[in-house]
Amino acid sequence: MDVRIHLTFLFLLAFVWFTEAAALGSSGASRGLVLVAIIFGCVVLHELGHALVARRYGLVVRSILLLPIGGMTFMEEPGPEQANPARDIRIAIAGPLVNLVIAGVAALAILAVAPHVKLWGEPLVHAGNLPRSLVWSNVFLGLFNLLPAYPMDGGRILRALLAERMDYMVATRRAVLIGQGLAMLMMLAGLVWNVWLVLIGFFLFLGAQMEDRTVLFQSLLEDVSMQDVMLTGFSILSPADTLEDALRKAIHSLQDDFPVVRGSEMVGVINKQRILEALRREGNGYVQSAMMRSFETAQRTDSLGVGFRKLGSRGLTMIPVVEDLRLVGIVTLQNLTHNMSLVLETRRLRRVQQGD
Ligand SMILES: [Zn+2]
Repeated sequence: MDVRIHLTFLFLLAFVWFTEAAALGSSGASRGLVLVAIIFGCVVLHELGHALVARRYGLVVRSILLLPIGGMTFMEEPGPEQANPARDIRIAIAGPLVNLVIAGVAALAILAVAPHVKLWGEPLVHAGNLPRSLVWSNVFLGLFNLLPAYPMDGGRILRALLAERMDYMVATRRAVLIGQGLAMLMMLAGLVWNVWLVLIGFFLFLGAQMEDRTVLFQSLLEDVSMQDVMLTGFSILSPADTLEDALRKAIHSLQDDFPVVRGSEMVGVINKQRILEALRREGNGYVQSAMMRSFETAQRTDSLGVGFRKLGSRGLTMIPVVEDLRLVGIVTLQNLTHNMSLVLETRRLRRVQQGD
């Protein structure tokens, strides 16, 4: 898992530097930067909270991205067939909980060690008072993320609660709609009350809309089955083939990925890249020693979404489709990227012909 900082974050640093330096001189500017560092440290801890709970549920956490408006944790998203509302609620609530705990501990520590710091003084978050800012920025981070506006953490909790009573996709759509409604209310309230609310509402609205598209795409993936997209005319390799034979086959077909079959049994998978690497490393050997022995298979009727998740979870580039242990087709990333638009177009045409 890696933590990356988005480039736009540098603009925020520059912005704080210039505005605080203009107001308070260079000592004010460096305090401003410390405040930014504190807030971002707390955003990182927030995201780590999500990541740790997700990992405890066996989900792979890929990366954490820090943006000026907060963080994002990219993890393996389990599909609707593995829906687990209790798990989703725990993962979602972990982030805000981290912030509220930090706020509580920091407040108690300040009361004990530095009682002269006025916790309720205005402004609550300001570079001029870093201890107080630590407490309040965490209170705000925690509460803000608990807003029931998907894709915020609160919205995820809302979706999980809805998903207990209805279809996963419907629950997501509803959570998105509630999120967009809330974002609009926030923008309206911002017009009369505080300009920052307009900005936050705007970002929330955009976020919800992006999620909405992802959900649409996902429902499409659930709709298409593996047999709709699999290649049925494909070459196979035998474990006893030499790597040079394998390379020749790769050159003479459009295929990059090959199932390795002994008799009628699938024993491994291998791709052009791996063949080349093995040839370069050890000279001509057998497919048997260079192939990947652990692979995932899919059934004809599995949805493309299931296939995608299987591909993604192990970094595979091909997934064999089997029926009664017999290999009936393969789906590769290569052919998916080529054929996806074709598949969607045929489906659209079919639908037009059926008149719905
Ligand atoms: Zn969060």
